[in-house]
Amino acid sequence: MPVVDRVSLHVDKGETLGLVGESGSGKSTLARLLLGLETATEGRLLFGGEEVTRWGFKRLRTIRSRVQMVFQNSYSSFDPLFTVERIVGEPLSSYGGMAALERRRVILESLDMVGLESAYAERYPHELSGGQLQRVNIARALVLQPELLICDEPFSSLDFKLRRQILTLLEELKIRFGLSYLYITHDLSSVSRFCDRIAVMYKGQIVETLPAARIAEEAIHPYTRSLLDAVPVQDPRLRRSRTGRPFGEPALSQGERVTQGCRFCSRCPAAMPVCFTVEPVLETKRPSHQAACHLYANEAGGKASQTFQIVKEQGQPR
Ligand code: SF4
Repeated sequence: MPVVDRVSLHVDKGETLGLVGESGSGKSTLARLLLGLETATEGRLLFGGEEVTRWGFKRLRTIRSRVQMVFQNSYSSFDPLFTVERIVGEPLSSYGGMAALERRRVILESLDMVGLESAYAERYPHELSGGQLQRVNIARALVLQPELLICDEPFSSLDFKLRRQILTLLEELKIRFGLSYLYITHDLSSVSRFCDRIAVMYKGQIVETLPAARIAEEAIHPYTRSLLDAVPVQDPRLRRSRTGRPFGEPALSQGERVTQGCRFCSRCPAAMPVCFTVEPVLETKRPSHQAACHLYANEAGGKASQTFQIVKEQGQPR
């Protein structure tokens, strides 16, 4: 079974798309595909309207600078022997051709964008707090003036206060530079404020996409509903799904395996006989709302194509 299969998504310019799913659902593999670190065997990858799926390594480098990654654990992604200036300037070395003075100016400008004074350029990772490390992480991602930032659990190692600070910073940068974000997380509770749209991934497939503001009321896929039910709430009775079965409890008896049909059927409290034989496809159920589930009739019609489109319009130079 492919790790990521039949994924159809797009990120619009200036949009934040939340990609939600459990560990092992294929989110990171999808990120590696977008960064050009892995090659898709099927389907199409579009960037700014241009198909880049079959581009060679050298040509792909030209778009890599436009897609950058903010890693989840800043400290472990930095070389402890490098100064902040060297860390932030690393992407400039990869894409080369900049005089030392200009390079320092660009690095200090990136630090300024994330609220760090020039004095931080001389410091080492162990001299920085968690929030400062994450700011350096973002400065490094910004130094090439990307159009799309892939943020992989950017708040996971931060406490609540720092999380809010970094969230606010990312929102400000998005408005200031017209950035688009792909925000990868397993935590559905963190996406509603930060994201415009949400795509839910399960075992390598997108099972539902819809506007973030509507997810609590309008999500229809049983997996999305179970993720919502798993969000901590004060009343523990509300954590249970509408069927009364807690999230994750398998609907099949032990030893049974599903070899065809819906990938979620072994855990789905609403599984029907058809779910064990016919694989549901991602279809438009309502305007701006797609889901892959046999439970719901196709109200608006139209199957999704196998396309990942990054930033529909060409970005304006900053
Ligand atoms: Fe559940 Fe069937 Fe929908 Fe899959 S297709 S999520 S098993 S109801």
